[in-house]
Amino acid sequence: MSKRQLAMVMDLNKCIGCQTCTVACKTQWTNRNGREYMYWNNVETYPGTGYPKNWMELGGGFDAAGDLQPGVIPNLEADYGVPWDYNYESLMGGMADSNTFHPHVSPTWGPNWDEDQGAGAFPQDNYFFYLPRICNHCTNPGCLSACPRDAIFKREEDGVVLVDLDRCQGYRYCIAGCPYKKIYFNPKISKSEKCILCFPRIEQGLPPACAQQCVGRIRFVGFLDDEESQVYKLVHKYKVAIGLRSDYGTQPNVYYIPPTESPAKFDAEGKIIEGSTRLPIEELEKLFGPAVHDSIKTLKAEMKKRKETGVSELMDLLIAYQHSDMFRLDNN
Ligand code: SF4
Ligand code: SF4
Repeated sequence: MSKRQLAMVMDLNKCIGCQTCTVACKTQWTNRNGREYMYWNNVETYPGTGYPKNWMELGGGFDAAGDLQPGVIPNLEADYGVPWDYNYESLMGGMADSNTFHPHVSPTWGPNWDEDQGAGAFPQDNYFFYLPRICNHCTNPGCLSACPRDAIFKREEDGVVLVDLDRCQGYRYCIAGCPYKKIYFNPKISKSEKCILCFPRIEQGLPPACAQQCVGRIRFVGFLDDEESQVYKLVHKYKVAIGLRSDYGTQPNVYYIPPTESPAKFDAEGKIIEGSTRLPIEELEKLFGPAVHDSIKTLKAEMKKRKETGVSELMDLLIAYQHSDMFRLDNN
């Protein structure tokens, strides 16, 4: 049990799917040394297959009795997708095939293969939203419980979940045990690796790179026991931020503000069906459980209050006028 817990809140109403966070993380941590195929941060289209493919159906986590559930280790090619490169040299160097811009391999799958497809039929009732995902730095991590080597631990000072590479033997039980599939096998060193919440930056009072670079200002970072922090207010005071798939039993510490608005559907003649909504509430219940109803109710009530009176601490928080107002890391 760690003394304090760092948390991240992501506002799904503001994510534009630009992948700046993904690039920030990849550039910082995973573009080399056997990590090339890994995305410690990814942004997937929901509904969709996600990354790795169909991760919600691959097991792990705990049942209601607290027992660790069996899980599957995703396949490198079929489920993650092997990174590929393009013929930049021939293209830029005016060589014979310079008119053809093509990958070096013929990929059949990769992250965001089904980006922006979503569900429903265009233009009547299609819908999707973006779901950014990192390791949840869970309070009860499935990866940690599954490891027979005690190689995974939570830092006392902030609850960040890390792999002790000296102890890890590359058995990969952790990958099966994580229901979010956010821990990866590095084939180059035969060890497991994962998001470290940019702890070297945290130690300098700086937010993780994904949060620092987020152009949508969707990511808040702080300690859950700090009543002045944005994350405390969003999770505990207003109770509008909810963990993803809490039914997995790992007590995730990344929380989400659910999407509150969805366009109306069109009828066969292309006219708006008044009062209809494209995004089925069942999809949000699947991700966030029954708490999503109260969250949306509070968000809509505060939005209305803000419009009518000009005052709402919650709306001001979520608008995030200053990027620096989204992080509170140096109060310990
Ligand atoms: Fe472990 Fe997965 Fe939880 Fe991250 S999300 S702490 S890898 S169980
Ligand atoms: Fe969404 Fe921010 Fe990532 Fe862009 S940088 S995809 S807005 S979380």
